[in-house]
Amino acid sequence: MFLDSAENLVLDANTLRNLEITRNLRDGSKKNTLLDILDYTETAMGGRLLKKWLEQPLLSIVRINQRLDAVTELVEDFSFRQKLREGCKTIYDFERLLTRVEVGTANARDVVALKVSFQALPGIKELLKDRKAELLHASYDNIELYDELAALLERAIVNDPGLSLREGGIIRPGYNQELDEYRRIAHDSKRMLQDMEERERTATGIKALKIGYNKVFGYYIEVRNSGKDLVPANYVRKQTLANAERYITEELKAFETKILGAQEKIVNLEYNLFMELREVLVGYLVSIQRTAREIARIDVLASLAEAAAAHNYVRPRLLDNGEIHIKDGRHPLVERILTQDLFVPNDATLNHAEAEILLITGPNMAGKSTYMRQTALLTLMAQAGSFLPAREAEISPVDRIFTRIGASDDLVSGQSTFMVEMNEVAQILKYATKNSLIILDEIGRGTSTFDGMSIARAVVEYIRDHIHAKTLFATHYHELTDLESEHIKNYCVAVKERGTKVVFLRRIVAGSADKSYGIHVARLAGLPNSVTQRAQAILDALEAEKEGAACLIAREEALAPQEAPMTSLFDTSLSTAILSLDVMTMTPLEALNELYKLQKQAREEAGQK
Ligand code: ATP
Repeated sequence: MFLDSAENLVLDANTLRNLEITRNLRDGSKKNTLLDILDYTETAMGGRLLKKWLEQPLLSIVRINQRLDAVTELVEDFSFRQKLREGCKTIYDFERLLTRVEVGTANARDVVALKVSFQALPGIKELLKDRKAELLHASYDNIELYDELAALLERAIVNDPGLSLREGGIIRPGYNQELDEYRRIAHDSKRMLQDMEERERTATGIKALKIGYNKVFGYYIEVRNSGKDLVPANYVRKQTLANAERYITEELKAFETKILGAQEKIVNLEYNLFMELREVLVGYLVSIQRTAREIARIDVLASLAEAAAAHNYVRPRLLDNGEIHIKDGRHPLVERILTQDLFVPNDATLNHAEAEILLITGPNMAGKSTYMRQTALLTLMAQAGSFLPAREAEISPVDRIFTRIGASDDLVSGQSTFMVEMNEVAQILKYATKNSLIILDEIGRGTSTFDGMSIARAVVEYIRDHIHAKTLFATHYHELTDLESEHIKNYCVAVKERGTKVVFLRRIVAGSADKSYGIHVARLAGLPNSVTQRAQAILDALEAEKEGAACLIAREEALAPQEAPMTSLFDTSLSTAILSLDVMTMTPLEALNELYKLQKQAREEAGQK
C-alpha cells in the first residue's frame, strides 16, 4: 500500500484524496484542489512537475530550503518573476516533442515548435544570470542554448508547415539547391501549360478547349462536344464524357512526364531533408532533456512565487525538532471558496513535549475538519517548497501524513462503511511513526455509541503510548476530553449562543466543548420541524438521565411507540406558539385569526383534517 521512500513525504491514496491535493472529492477534476490554487505554471512540463512536487514533497530541510530560497527571490522581484513567466510562455512541451523525435513520429510542426522554444531560451538564461538562490544559479548553468540548431531549423523549415510529411511544403526555399531546381521546373511548367492551352486554342480554333488533370488519366485536353469537329488528327482520344471528349497529344505526354517527375522528386526530397534534420535533433536529445527539466523547475518555482504573491502567503521556517507552530493559518482552498464570510485564521502548535495529540471537540459545522486539514496541508505545502497561507509558520518535516476523514462505502470490494474506517485506522496504526502527522476525524462513528467511543479512546491511547506521532483528533465524544494529560491537549471551536441562535466563531481555543449543536445544524439543513423538535425532546431526556439514558428511550419507545412522543411533541409546539403571542397588542380580528390558526395546527398535529 505504501511506497517506502527515504527522500519524500509519503502520502497514501486516502490522504491525497481527502486533502484534495490534485483531484477534488466532488468530481475528481483539478478544480478547487491544492494544485489548482498553486498552479500558475506556463508550460505543460511545469504543470506536471508541480503536480509531482505536491504528490511527493521533500523530507530534507536543505532541499526544501533550496526551493524556498528560489521562491523567495522570485516573490521579492516582481519584474524578474513576470519576465521569467513570460519567457516560459513560448516554450512548448519539450518532453512530449522530444519523445516524438525519439520514436520518429515528430512532424514538421513539432520541429517548428522546438525551434520556437529554442529561440526563447537565451532570454530565460539571461534573466537567471547572477541570481542568489542556488537553484536559480544551477538553472543558469544547466540550461543549454541551441542557437545554431535553431538557426538551422529556421533556415530549413517554413513557419507553418502542413501536418503530413508526404505532401511537400515543408522546406524553405534557398535551403537546398536541388529542391529549388525542381520547384522551378514545377513552377515553370504551370506557365508552360497555360501557353500550350492558348496555342492549341488558336491552332484549332476551338474556343471550348482546356487542359486539365486528374489522378487516374493524368493530363488531358478537353474539348466540349460543340468543338468536336475541329479536333485535329494528332489528338488521341483518352476518355469520353457526356458532353465532352478528352485527348492527349505527344507534346502533352512529354510535359506530363517532366512535371510529374519533378513533383514526385520535390516530395521525396523534402521528406529526406526533413529526416536528416530529425536525425540531427536526435543527437541533441540528452542535452535538450536536461534543459527541459531546468525549464520545468524554473516554471514551478515561479508558479509557487506567483501563488504566494497572489494569495498573501509567507515563507515557512523549517525546524528539525519535531515541532510545528502555525500562527494565523488559513485553509488554502476554503479561504478561496468562501464568498459570504471571511475566513477566520487559526493557530496550531504541535510538539512532542506537551502537545503531541490535540483532541478537538466542538459543534457540527464549526470548522474542525477544516482546521485539521489546514494543518496537514500547510505542512505538506512547506515540504513541497511553497509559501504558506499564515502569518508565521515553523514546520518540522514529517515522514508521512495520514488522514482518516469521512466514511465511504467500498461496496465493490464488499466492505461496509465501518469496515473501511477500521481498515484505514489499522493501516495508520501499523505504519505511522513518531515523525508522522496523523489526522483522525471522527473515528468510531459508524457503530454503536459505546463501541465507537471505546475504539476512539483506545486508538488515542495507542498513539500516545506507542507511536508518539503528532496527531489531530476531532471527536464528538466529549467523554474523551478527560484524556487530557502531559501529551494530550484539549481544543475546541468557540461558539456563541445568542438566545436560540448559535454563532460559529471558527476560532480554535484551548478547552473542551460540552455541546454538539447537532440539532441546530439539522434545523439549518432543513429537517422538518417535527423531527428536530422530537430530537430536542429526546436529547433533553438523555441529558436529564445521562446514565442509562439510552436504555430509557428504548424502553419508552417499546412501550408506547406512537402516543408518548406524539403527545409531548403536540404539547410543546402548540404551547410555544401560544406563548409567543403578544395578546395585549392584538386587535380582536388578529386574535380571532390566531385562534383559528392555532386550532388548525392543533387539528393537524392530532392527525385530524
Ligand atoms: P462536522 O463535525 O459536522 O463534520 P466540522 O466541525 O468538521 O463539522 P467543517 O466541515 O470543518 O466543520 O466546516 C464547516 C464549514 O464551515 C466549512 O465548509 C466552511 O465553509 C466553514 N469554515 C470552517 N472553518 C472556517 C474558518 N476558519 N473560517 C471561516 N469559515 C470556516
